[in-house]
Amino acid sequence: MTAPNERELIEKIEAGERLNREEGTALYGLDLLTLGELASRIREGRYGRKSYFNINRHINPTNVCKDVCKFCAYSASRKNPNQYTMSHEEILAIAAEARERGAKEVHIVSAHNPEAGIDWYLGAFRKIKEAFPDLHVKALTAAEVNFLARENGLSYEEMIDLMIESGVDSMPGGGAEIFDEEVRDYICKGKVSSEEWLEIHRLWHRRGRQSNATMLFGHVEKREHRIDHMLRLRELQEETGGFNAFIPLVYQRENNFLRVEEFPTAQEILKTYAISRILLDNIPHLKAYWVTSTVGLALLAQEFGADDLDGTIQKESIQSAAGAASASGMPLEDFVALIHNSGFLPVERDSLYHELNVYEG
Ligand code: SF4
Repeated sequence: MTAPNERELIEKIEAGERLNREEGTALYGLDLLTLGELASRIREGRYGRKSYFNINRHINPTNVCKDVCKFCAYSASRKNPNQYTMSHEEILAIAAEARERGAKEVHIVSAHNPEAGIDWYLGAFRKIKEAFPDLHVKALTAAEVNFLARENGLSYEEMIDLMIESGVDSMPGGGAEIFDEEVRDYICKGKVSSEEWLEIHRLWHRRGRQSNATMLFGHVEKREHRIDHMLRLRELQEETGGFNAFIPLVYQRENNFLRVEEFPTAQEILKTYAISRILLDNIPHLKAYWVTSTVGLALLAQEFGADDLDGTIQKESIQSAAGAASASGMPLEDFVALIHNSGFLPVERDSLYHELNVYEG
């Protein structure tokens, strides 16, 4: 089979036709501005100049982890000996403060703490929901679900029952990393497998619930691994329709054990956003998570297919441990002004993408 030529690829995208694996990989051969133009047209066709964000608060209640992912700077280890596990009172106090500041969502992701117990994990969600019934609880990555199921001898269905009973509204997209088994084995051996990650989201979607999906890139993976990752998500989305957003996460290089020879250029990052927009034609939103891409690149990503910049987050511990400048979040006014100044229309959304507030400026 001959490699798809540039003209044919562009025509196919312009005609709204779906691209296959080979064509997806060939997209990296297009020049950056052509890719940006193609991805922008798709984005504008759906959302015009709107850029979505939410007012949220990230909570990372423990960094004690029984897993040892090479890329991780967050878990307590010999590089980060400062272990912590918050009490429910501490978690509730953070949620209360976030609510006070206008947050509509708490995004709760933890390490895999074998000492804490399942009641500690689920009890925190229950208490937040009891205290603040209208605060959206986005919690437990598929990696955490897999960990808690294994530790407690539960099936994924049983875990999902418990999550719903405890007030979890939606699932974050973390733990997906890169689905290619060989790369996954190298960067995070022992953690939830790709098949398990997809199966947990499949089951969650079958319960009528929604989730997001991430991809960690810019480490030891190759371009074809990213395309493979996107296509596995596209296939599951065809079946369930439960993913709201795809979130490419740029690998953070500090304080971890992964040896990376070459980091992606800004051009490579922007191409990856644009290709995600083109290939993932059935996942509605593409999020440029400013925490890992930098604010500047996230704003630029709006011209490369991204329609969502995540949120104000208020505080973040996982990516900032690896060098991201996100430890204290971003004030709402700054967030809105940055989107405006980059030529887009800031739209505050809820966790499931209902529009709440359009900042006309
Ligand atoms: S990425 Fe998550 S599972 Fe892996 S070591 Fe870090 S905290 Fe643990």
